[in-house]
Amino acid sequence: MFAAALRTKVVSRAFTSRAVDGFTGAVGNTPLIHLKKWSEKTGCNIVGKAEFQNPGGSVKDRAALGVVRDAEERGLLRPGGTVVEGTAGNTGIGLAHVCRAKGYRCVIFMPNTQSQEKIDLLRMLGAEVFPVPAVAYENPANYNHQARDFATKLPNAVWTDQFDNTANAKAHYLSTGPEIWEQTNGELDAFICATGTGGTLAGTGKYLKEKSKGKTQVWLADPPGSVLHSYIESGGKLKDRSGGSITEGIGQGRITNNLGTFVKELDGSLTIPDEKSVAMVYDLLDTEGIYIGASSALNVVAAVELAKLLGPGKTIATILCDGAYRYQSRLFSKAWLKAKGLEDAIPEHLKKYAVL
Ligand code: PMP
Repeated sequence: MFAAALRTKVVSRAFTSRAVDGFTGAVGNTPLIHLKKWSEKTGCNIVGKAEFQNPGGSVKDRAALGVVRDAEERGLLRPGGTVVEGTAGNTGIGLAHVCRAKGYRCVIFMPNTQSQEKIDLLRMLGAEVFPVPAVAYENPANYNHQARDFATKLPNAVWTDQFDNTANAKAHYLSTGPEIWEQTNGELDAFICATGTGGTLAGTGKYLKEKSKGKTQVWLADPPGSVLHSYIESGGKLKDRSGGSITEGIGQGRITNNLGTFVKELDGSLTIPDEKSVAMVYDLLDTEGIYIGASSALNVVAAVELAKLLGPGKTIATILCDGAYRYQSRLFSKAWLKAKGLEDAIPEHLKKYAVL
């Protein structure tokens, strides 16, 4: 009886706190972190947008929410519908979270070469995962085409198509760009980051260029094995993809719709070797206590190099895409570093962090 009396007391009342509205309300509004050591060393302000603080753990939460909202607005996705994507990484995780929060079914196609950890995580988040043979994009059995075909055959289903659906870049134009502009009081000399789909670079970069009336430079940072740096350097020649990188989620073999014509508005590009990116993972952990993945570390290396090119007194922003948690069995493993020939990339005094 007492329990029943207590239960009746729990009445719903207007929620007047400053709480955000569920998972989707928690996406974005991440802090901008002033990176002290590298700012001091370069005489610039180097700032990193802490995208690892998004509720799904990466910058891709913004894109995931953006493509789902866009599909809803266009009437492609209605209550009880299905979201389908081809992805092995952060976009799938972001989509799985957003789908649970909004009550959609989430179906993910990925190459069967991906780790069991990734498959397990997506399944734990409620997604249905189809690992399919890892074949080239030209092959109709490629995971992206399978995702598209699956969605086409199903009513009330959408293939979110993160590479070519510009709702991805739009999400950054509407959130990441304005946040960085506001957090730097509009005093931003340059923005630089790497691209996978191109959504972050083009969406954020376009906003910053418009808002600054062209005063904020926007640069691309590229890992080895990507064709974008040479595309920009050569004034638009697309070479074949060769080589590779230990970074994940970045590097590209083509001009996606999300990067689109923005590639022509870029002020320059830098290519960053894996040795420097891996060393920066360890350096930021040691000096700032920030635990980030290799794409974020590559971005910081690029921001430091750009600071040297532009000279002291500048403010340069980049993206800290995700945490190192998803890669720690590699990045902090002595055996893995050795196998990749990256052992010597880590300065002696930082080797203590490679505990696996
Ligand atoms: N870093 C990581 C870890 C990623 O997963 C991605 C997304 N592929 C990116 C950077 C690049 O973001 P975008 O797709 O917006 O270019």
